[in-house]
Amino acid sequence: MEAQLIKGKDIAAQIQQELKEKVTELVERYGRPPGLVTILVGENPASVSYVTAKQKRAKDLGFYSVQDSQPESISEEDLLGLVQKYNQDPKIDGILVQLPLPKHVNESRVLLAIRPEKDVDGFHPVNLGKLMIGEADFLPCTPAGIQEMLIRSGTPIEGAEVVVVGRSNIVGKPIANILLQKAQGANATVTVCHTRTKDLAFHTRRADILIVAAGVPRYVKGDMIKQGAVVIDVGVNRIGVTSSGKAKLCGDVDFEAAQQVASKITPVPGGVGPMTITMLMKNTLKAARLALER
Ligand code: NAP
Repeated sequence: MEAQLIKGKDIAAQIQQELKEKVTELVERYGRPPGLVTILVGENPASVSYVTAKQKRAKDLGFYSVQDSQPESISEEDLLGLVQKYNQDPKIDGILVQLPLPKHVNESRVLLAIRPEKDVDGFHPVNLGKLMIGEADFLPCTPAGIQEMLIRSGTPIEGAEVVVVGRSNIVGKPIANILLQKAQGANATVTVCHTRTKDLAFHTRRADILIVAAGVPRYVKGDMIKQGAVVIDVGVNRIGVTSSGKAKLCGDVDFEAAQQVASKITPVPGGVGPMTITMLMKNTLKAARLALER
């Protein structure tokens, strides 16, 4: 039997509906909506399209949203000054600096400058540390989206063998940490694999839940997956252009082969991707609520 699809697009739409209701409640109670600023430096086409999508979603949800575009030549000092301005702006609850930044700017200095209370991307060391000890305010968006998809698709997580392929700071490490927490929607036994892992297939074949974030097109084959496993494919790889000029995408998993073995699988596109922006909105709403209740 073919695996059931976990459609991130549909789950994201459902969560957005829930968020919309919560935004209305927040406005009724406190008189203002959540505020999000997206800071874009330069004109990298992928970054422009990510920021545009984030702004559109924020507006759809009734947020106060600001798009702050800066030239590629902005100095690190000026960018830090801009972050400080939004740190102090009471209408802004969430600050998102779109990565990557130009080479002459120290990315971690800029991310560190964001007040942890406004770090809705969840990349500030304070927020990553809180995640590690089980006291997170903001989870990084892609891993948070993965956990939400597992929960909402009815996948048993507690006691499950979870194998994560990839150990990046934005996906692999945080999702591993989230799922091993002593908490609802977690309590899994987690293994993290990377390029130095000996015999990757030995690990992936043990997984009840296999999460792949390696950035290698169709890397995980059908025979690397346990019968009945749940497969979350985080990979977004551009493998050409369609006849209409759009980017042709594929994941890190050989989808057709995996679909014959897995019980559930996320498609690419339409899987993890749409959840990421939704989790950014969820974090911004939470930041607003925490600020207004303080
Ligand atoms: P990254 O920073 O490039 O990290 C890739 C990780 O995979 C590294 O830890 C690397 O190991 C490991 N890896 C690479 N090749 C491997 C192999 N052959 N065997 C085992 N491990 C291997 O990537 P990332 O930022 O986490 O992104 C991963 C993928 O997810 C990319 O396709 C990206 O576009 C996608 N992504 C999607 C979303 C979304 O919203 N859908 C968000 C973020 C990322 P080493 O550490 O040993 O080098």
